[in-house]
Amino acid sequence: MPTALLWFRRDLRLADHPALLAAVDAAGPDGTVLPVFVFDDRLWGPSGAPRRRFLLDCLAVLGADTGGALVLRHGDPARVVPQLATEVGARSVHVTADAGPYGRRRDAAVEQALGDVPLVRTGSPYAVAPGRVTKRDGTPFQVFSPFARAWREHGWHSPAQRPADVRWLPGVPSHDPPPAPDLDGVRLPPAGEAAAHEAWARFRDERLSGYAEGRNTPGTGGTSRMSAYLKYGCLHPRSLLADLAGDDSEAARRYTDELAWRDFYADVLWHRPDSAREYLKPELQAMGYDSGPDAEELVRAWETGRTGFPIVDAGMRQLLGEAYVHNRVRMIVASFLVKDLHQEWTRGARYFMRHLVDGDLASNNHGWQWVAGTGTDASPYYRVFNPVTQGKKFDPDGSYVKRWVPELRDLDPRYVHEPWTAPTGVPAGYPEPIVDHAAERQVALDRYHRVR
Ligand code: FAD
Repeated sequence: MPTALLWFRRDLRLADHPALLAAVDAAGPDGTVLPVFVFDDRLWGPSGAPRRRFLLDCLAVLGADTGGALVLRHGDPARVVPQLATEVGARSVHVTADAGPYGRRRDAAVEQALGDVPLVRTGSPYAVAPGRVTKRDGTPFQVFSPFARAWREHGWHSPAQRPADVRWLPGVPSHDPPPAPDLDGVRLPPAGEAAAHEAWARFRDERLSGYAEGRNTPGTGGTSRMSAYLKYGCLHPRSLLADLAGDDSEAARRYTDELAWRDFYADVLWHRPDSAREYLKPELQAMGYDSGPDAEELVRAWETGRTGFPIVDAGMRQLLGEAYVHNRVRMIVASFLVKDLHQEWTRGARYFMRHLVDGDLASNNHGWQWVAGTGTDASPYYRVFNPVTQGKKFDPDGSYVKRWVPELRDLDPRYVHEPWTAPTGVPAGYPEPIVDHAAERQVALDRYHRVR
């Protein structure tokens, strides 16, 4: 009986899954599909507890959705996948194409190791596969707006049908998953495909109409919280875009733009795989960054949400409490690390990747490069976020800060973003500001002008 192997990676779903359809097709009417997931140390190792746990939970759901057929294996995919293909006599191995630097190298190695068994790449985790939208002369876009215009013009396929009936190959030995890490109180979203669709439907029906304004106010829960689901492919962005089709509201346009940012950063990484770790503007690497015990102490205060700047501390505590941070606040805390504490963006990016449940190389590292002014179409370096004015503007009633910084809960909203101005002084247990923002801003600008 012909068998096609479906190797799941960042596509942990069954609906709108072109590689699954290709596997079903390759297996034919009498054939079976073997679903497999490989725990690869190169990816598992650097993931923090939230991503490990979310992945394990998604796999448990996928296991149930495939009627218990999902096979788990451990090790180097270039060894494990061909071995499994031989074990079950698979005639083809099907994947959703991976656009990241490691994933591309890994897949090339697997392809070679498979020999005569083809590795078939169908679809990608993006609305438009990275590398496909280019300028007229074939070169990649460096700036978001023209990319987004060309991306919209290019368009995307409608969601693929969920196959009515998949004959999964049962009974293939599966290994135990790695032990579930202790989350230490971190609250994660419910895992899996059905949970992703439910969360999306709730957002679409209840909050999408207010997204254009709500997306910037961290205290109001105005965003979709789809990022972890998109990261692991519990749903495909195309499914979201299909729901927005024909909706010409500002909210739908804004939401589509955010998905375009996701595709844009994947596209930049596709063309410049080195940009995952390297500065896209290398001259800024020579700027001079702070080190030594005092600098380390300041970084520790940033990591633990004890800088004395409420919006920064709320963001960093949200990171530790929910493995998630609101986008506006990601920008504020990133700016604070780079421009107030004079640390390289790479350090913050690594910390985020360890703690975020949606940690994604392209969006995270390019998000950091954007804030640091070192990336493609980045914010100019001299634009330094002021944590007090940002807090007042985007969290005017202080509700976000009060949720995450209990020491400030009783403070009059007028003082929440600068508690040192409260008539009663900084509340007990909350730190004084660890730096003088105006002075550090100047230090950052002086260093910038020296290397520019
Ligand atoms: P919504 O506002 O509901 O947006 C919908 C979807 O659009 C998101 O789920 C996401 O997939 C995409 N999106 C939104 N904004 C961006 C953006 N600026 N760049 C790329 N895609 C975007 N996003 C990640 O998915 N993973 C990361 O590791 C990550 N790290 C970031 C680090 C920094 C320093 C910054 C500034 C941004 C980062 N982002 C990252 C982008 C953004 O903050 C998150 O995607 C967003 O906060 C997720 O919340 P949401 O799903 O409620 O967003």
